[in-house]
Amino acid sequence: MVEVFVGIGSNLGNRRENIKKAIGYLEEDSRIVIEKISSVIETEPLGGPPQGKYLNGVIKIKTDYSPKELLGVLQRIEKRMGRKREVRFGPRVIDLDILLYGEEIIDDPELKIPHPRMFEREFVLGPLFELEPGIEKVLKKITEKLRR
Ligand code: ADP
Ligand code: MG
Repeated sequence: MVEVFVGIGSNLGNRRENIKKAIGYLEEDSRIVIEKISSVIETEPLGGPPQGKYLNGVIKIKTDYSPKELLGVLQRIEKRMGRKREVRFGPRVIDLDILLYGEEIIDDPELKIPHPRMFEREFVLGPLFELEPGIEKVLKKITEKLRR
């Protein structure tokens, strides 16, 4: 089982319910164990078309899914919850991103880990450090590897 951090966001409909629902779906998956759930914070949208504010949070899970398999699981939940992929960075009922997968670095067109935009996003780093203060060490290791 690998420790994974997943970012969750919503800015359409009942945002808090959407986040709860997504976590519920993850919980139902026998290959995923939910370890910790951060507080949820309200954040201004970054980029994209004019749109409402987001609620964002981070969860820590353990899973034996590979990174690609997990991405598939997250995308199925997004679909199931009615997410339509139209405008890039546009409004969404639910957004599930893999932030960190153990200490792995992945740079594929469809999957980049660590999530490329997480380091400049306060709404990711805040909840992440809240959940796991020790994560700083892992982030340092990863950024050193990335620099090489
Ligand atoms: P964003 O979350 O960046 O606002 P989307 O949720 O629309 O954008 O995702 C666009 C694409 O990002 C997905 O089709 C997926 O293949 C890709 N992607 C790359 N890295 C990741 C990651 N770490 N977690 C989730 N999706 C990712
Ligand atoms: Mg996403």
